[in-house]
Amino acid sequence: MLNIVLFGPPGAGKGTQAEKLIEKYQLVHLSTGDVFRANIKSETELGKLAKSYMDKGDLVPDEVTIKMLESEVGKYAYPKGFIFDGFPRTTTQAQALDKFLATKNLSITMTLALEVEVEELTKRILLRGKESGRADDQDEDIVRNRVKEYNNKTAPLKDFYLKQGKLKTLHGSGGIDNIFTELCRIIEANAKIV
Ligand code: AMP
Repeated sequence: MLNIVLFGPPGAGKGTQAEKLIEKYQLVHLSTGDVFRANIKSETELGKLAKSYMDKGDLVPDEVTIKMLESEVGKYAYPKGFIFDGFPRTTTQAQALDKFLATKNLSITMTLALEVEVEELTKRILLRGKESGRADDQDEDIVRNRVKEYNNKTAPLKDFYLKQGKLKTLHGSGGIDNIFTELCRIIEANAKIV
């Protein structure tokens, strides 16, 4: 199985690239942000809880997020692999993911990290907010807090995957198609694709 963590700050283009990768490699796309937004839309208890954090640009607590992710993974019987988009975002989540996958005799194949300058991120997110209508994409203070959360809690995960020999870093700017080509090159150089 090909299990990829698509890693990077908010606005790095993870969702866009994930859409292209799942099509090419027939993988399951698991975006924790998308699942939270679906729960908010259908007004579930999980949605209400997640919203109270997302509206501020804070991370949703680990316990809730991990439980949700594990239940999402469990929905697929024989997938070719997963693209984890926006998960893990803390060391606790990364450890939980490894442990959970191990119970299924699975593991992360590689972590692909998209790197983009902070100023570029803020610009991209505010622009996306105009089209998507996502509340957390429209307020500059919330956007800056999301980037801060990323720098404080998520960026240290690069070290976690580096130590496992799984981290592959690339620039997340320079055109969607060029980045996609580079991602595919890295994947095919580092994984056995069947
Ligand atoms: P995203 O769509 O990935 O940008 O996520 C939007 C928001 O959902 C984030 O700002 C967090 O509030 C929340 N969120 C998504 N994924 C996670 C996660 N793995 N851990 C904690 N919060 C998350």
